[in-house]
Formats: sequence, C-alpha cells, structure tokens
Amino acid sequence: MLQPPPAEPGMREDEVDTPALVLDLDAFEANLDTMAKLLAPTGAKLRAHAKTHKSAVIAKLQMARGAVGQCVQKVGEAEALAHAGIGDILVSNEVVSPRKLARLAALSSIARVQVCADDPAMVPVLESVAEAAGVRLSVLVEIEVGARRCGLEAGAPAGELAAHIAASKHLSFGGLQAYFGGAQHKRQPEERRLAIAFAGACVERTLEELKKRKLDCPIVGGGGTGTFLHEATSGLWNEIQAGSYAFMDADYARNVEPPPFRHALFVLAQVMSAPAGAGRAVVDAGHKAAPIDSGFPQVFARPDLAYIGASDEHGVIEARDGTLPVLGEKLRLIPGHCDPTVDRYDWYVGVRKGRVESLWPVTARGMMI
Ligand code: PLP
Ligand code: MN
Repeated sequence: MLQPPPAEPGMREDEVDTPALVLDLDAFEANLDTMAKLLAPTGAKLRAHAKTHKSAVIAKLQMARGAVGQCVQKVGEAEALAHAGIGDILVSNEVVSPRKLARLAALSSIARVQVCADDPAMVPVLESVAEAAGVRLSVLVEIEVGARRCGLEAGAPAGELAAHIAASKHLSFGGLQAYFGGAQHKRQPEERRLAIAFAGACVERTLEELKKRKLDCPIVGGGGTGTFLHEATSGLWNEIQAGSYAFMDADYARNVEPPPFRHALFVLAQVMSAPAGAGRAVVDAGHKAAPIDSGFPQVFARPDLAYIGASDEHGVIEARDGTLPVLGEKLRLIPGHCDPTVDRYDWYVGVRKGRVESLWPVTARGMMI
C-alpha cells in the first residue's frame, strides 16, 4: 500500500514527517549537470541506471541533460518506467523466465527495450518469445570483465553468442554489456584504474571477435559512479550506466579521490528518545529506513555526531563532544548505500533552501520481478 506523502509543498524541512527520503534539489541538479559536463568531451553517452532512483521524473531530468535512455535490472522496473513515458530502456541484466521476457517484449509497442544474455541456451527462448510477440528483440551479450558475477567469457565465446543472436530471425545483436561492479568501490584510484584497464582488455578482445564475424556492435555499456571516467575515456565503451552519481552515498564518499558529486539524498530522521544522562540519542530511522549493507549512515554536516548502531526501527547517535541532539530534533542522515534506501520509500521529498518544493513518487519501488 502506498504511504501518504510525508510532506506538502511549502513546508519547512523540519516539519516533514520522518523517516522521509529527502532530496536536496540544488545538490541533485548540480550532480546531473556535473555528469553531463564530464561526459560531453568523451563522446560516451549516459544511459543512467534507474535501479538507483526508480523514478520516472528523475529519468526525464537525466534525459533532458543528454542521457540516451535508462538501464534497469528488472522487468518490473522497465514496465514502471515505460508506462510513465520513458522510451528507451535496457535491462542490463539476464532475464531467464519466458513469462518475464514476454512482459518485456510486450513493452516494445511503447518503448525501445533491450535485454542481456550470457548463455547460448537462452537464444531459442528469446527467439520464441520475440516471435510470439511479433517483435524483433535486441539482445546484448554480457561478458565477464572481472566482476565474477554474470557474463560469459570474453573473446571467442562471446563472439559466438553474438553471431548466434544476430542469425536469429526475431532477434538482433544489440552490443556488449561490460560492467565491473567490484571496481566501483575499490578504495584506491590506482586499483580502480587497473580494474577498468583489465575490463577494457576483455572488451577489446571481444570486439576483435565481432569484427572477424562482421558484426556491428552498437552498444558497449558499463561503468558506474566510481569508475565511469575510465570507461568513458577508453575509446571502448560508448554508454555509461552510472546511477548513484545523482545522490552520492556515504560509501562512495569513502573512496580515496571520491567521485565529484555532492550528497543529495538523505533520510530525514527525528530524535525519538534522549534519555537523561544516557550519553546517547535515538532516532526513528533504523536499518529498515536506512539499510546498512554498506555501513551505517552518517549524520550530514554534523561531524560532532556519529550514528553507531541500528536495529529495525532505531538508530543510536553518540556525540563526540558530549552535546547530543535533543528530543524532537531532526537530522539528515547520509545513507550508506543509496539504491536499497530509495527502495524503502514511496516519495521523494524535494527540498530547496529549507523548504519542500516537490513530491515525486518512487515509480518503480519494490519492482523486483
Ligand atoms: N550498471 C550495472 C549493470 C549495475 O549493476 C550497476 C550497479 O550496481 C550500475 C551500472 C551503476 O552503478 P552505480 O550506482 O554505482 O553508479
Ligand atoms: Mn548500488
């Protein structure tokens, strides 16, 4: 069930009901502009990852600044965005169930949709789904570039799968999916550079195999917030799939030489208990409100405060100098990891200069099927 909006336009931020997902609109817009500016000279285009924001409004703002489309991970996300008018969607992921694939193919009447595959066994499945839907489905081959997640071996095996796809009557070969997730949060810049150099060698080897087979490769997609400049300037990738850049979470800020984005997304929390003499305050945002898979949230602009413990509904705050926030006080928490945080909320509360300006739905919230 959709939750009621926690705020109304015009309210002061400190009047917003908590926990709430607050978007600092000045910082957010600056992040979108920074990404557009950084990519412009590289020739690589942004196909922003909507797994982060799950929002049709944000997708449109990214595309107004030059993004060629959106990535999603799930068919349900593709449906939510296509139904909201997003016209170019890549499922940057494998989809195996014919029923899900049929749902994806059915979107072809309102959007350009593409999907990834990393196994020759999927070609007849994809072919029969596309035939039944009366469409020609574009399929990218995902290659292993160091992430040790999905992706078949780069080079000849990938070339063979691409040829198999291209030779199928109801499929077309859309290109290569080459994303190295583990590289994004490698802390040292040199580790990130080396990881993407390795990924680039895998891409290059595969492009040679495609050339041998006289296959065009429209898309080489990959790159996230931690490494995108390496992919974009490599001359190999032409679509960058960064998502978190729009929000900049606490974990990305822990990279040495972090990406040049501002913290824009917060969980607004309220002190619900501050027992006298206990040396702690407790806020109403525990790990259900701000997931802790990438560490605890940080208290924004309050280096004197530390979020040191989370249970389902409680977050424990300690003060470095002993001065704790008082009962009822509201704090902005920077989420450890923006993607799962967004998925916990129905609304973005857009705030500018201390006032609520907009309420945007999290269009694809919970879409994991
Ligand atoms: N592309 C793919 C395939 C991903 O799985 C992810 C995130 O894990 C991204 C791009 C975007 O990464 P980030 O949000 O770190 O920019
Ligand atoms: Mn993430």
